[in-house]
Amino acid sequence: MPKVSIIVPCYNEQESLPFFYSETGAVLQGTNCDYEFIFVDDGSTDGTLSVLRQLAGQDAHVTYLSFSRNFGKEAAMYAGLCNVDGDYVAVMDADLQDPPALLPQMIALLESGEYDSVATRRKDRNGEPPVRSWFARRFYRLINRISDTDMVDGARDFRLMRREMADAVVSMSEYNRFSKGIFGWVGFRTYWLSFDNVERAAGQTKWSFWKLVKYAIDGIINFSQAPLSIASWGGMLMTLVSFFLLLFIIVRRLIFGDPVAGWASTICIIIFIGGLQLFCLGIMGQYIAKTYMETKRRPHFIIAETNREDSTRIR
Ligand code: UDP
Ligand code: MG
Repeated sequence: MPKVSIIVPCYNEQESLPFFYSETGAVLQGTNCDYEFIFVDDGSTDGTLSVLRQLAGQDAHVTYLSFSRNFGKEAAMYAGLCNVDGDYVAVMDADLQDPPALLPQMIALLESGEYDSVATRRKDRNGEPPVRSWFARRFYRLINRISDTDMVDGARDFRLMRREMADAVVSMSEYNRFSKGIFGWVGFRTYWLSFDNVERAAGQTKWSFWKLVKYAIDGIINFSQAPLSIASWGGMLMTLVSFFLLLFIIVRRLIFGDPVAGWASTICIIIFIGGLQLFCLGIMGQYIAKTYMETKRRPHFIIAETNREDSTRIR
C-alpha cells in the first residue's frame, strides 16, 4: 500500500485548519493508500500551533513542524519536503483553495505509471482583483519569454509527485526559492489537471499586491539572466548612438561654426544617461544581492517544535 504524505504550509490558519483536516482526511480515507499530514506552522501568531497539537493528539496521521518564526511559504514547503517519507508527496494550501477532491484522480494517474507528477492549474482567476490578474498574466508572458524554464500560467503549488521528484526538489538547496521555477527545472513527466478557481474557505490571504510584485521579481532574477543582457545591450546601443552623434556634431562644427546653443538638450541627455546607468547598476545589484545571500549559506528554516521523530530541524 503506497503512502501519501501531504505537506501543508500554515500561516495563521486557525480558522481553516479544521475544515481542511476533516475534508482532506475524509478524501484520503476513501483511497486505498496509507497517508500522513505534515503541517508546517510557519511562525503563526494565532492559535494555529495549538490547533495542530490538538489534531496530532487525536489522530496519529497528523504530524507537524513548527518554525521558530515566519520564514515564508517557500521555506515551509522546503521543510516539509526535507522531512517527508511517503511514496507520493503532495503540497497543499491550508485554505481549501487546492481541492482535496482531486487527490484520488491524482493518485490514480501516478499509479498508472505514466507520470511522475500531477500538477494543477486553475482555469480562471475568478474572485481575484482584476488588476492582480492582469499583472499575473503579464508576468507569466514575460518570464516564459526570458527564461528557459517553463512556467505555466495559473499553476498552483498543489501537486502530487513521486518521491524521486521530491528528492530532486530537495537537492535544489538554493536559498532564494521560487517553487514554480524549481518544479519546472527538475523536469520529470508531469500531467496538468485544470480546475475552476476556488475561493479561500476562511481567514485571509497573506499576499499583498507588493508582496506578489517582489515575488515576481525574485522569480525573474532566480530563473533568468535576461535583465543582465538588457543592461549590456542597452549600453552598447547607447555607445553606438553617441558615436554617430559625435560625428554629426563635428561635421556641423566644421561647416557652420559653433554658436553656443542646446544647453537644455545637453542637460536632458546627461540626466537620461545618468538614470540609465543607475538602472543598469541596480539590475546588477539585484543579482549581486542574491549571490551574497546564497554565499552566506544561512538555513532555510529553523524548527522549534515538532512531533515527528528524527526530523531535520535546521537546514
Ligand atoms: N503561507 C505560509 N507562510 C506565509 C504565507 C502563507 O505558510 O508566510 C501559507 C498559507 O497558510 C496557505 C498558503 O501558504 O496555506 C497560501 O497562502 P494564501 O492562501 O494566503 O495565498 P493565496 O492563496 O491567496 O495566494
Ligand atoms: Mg489561498
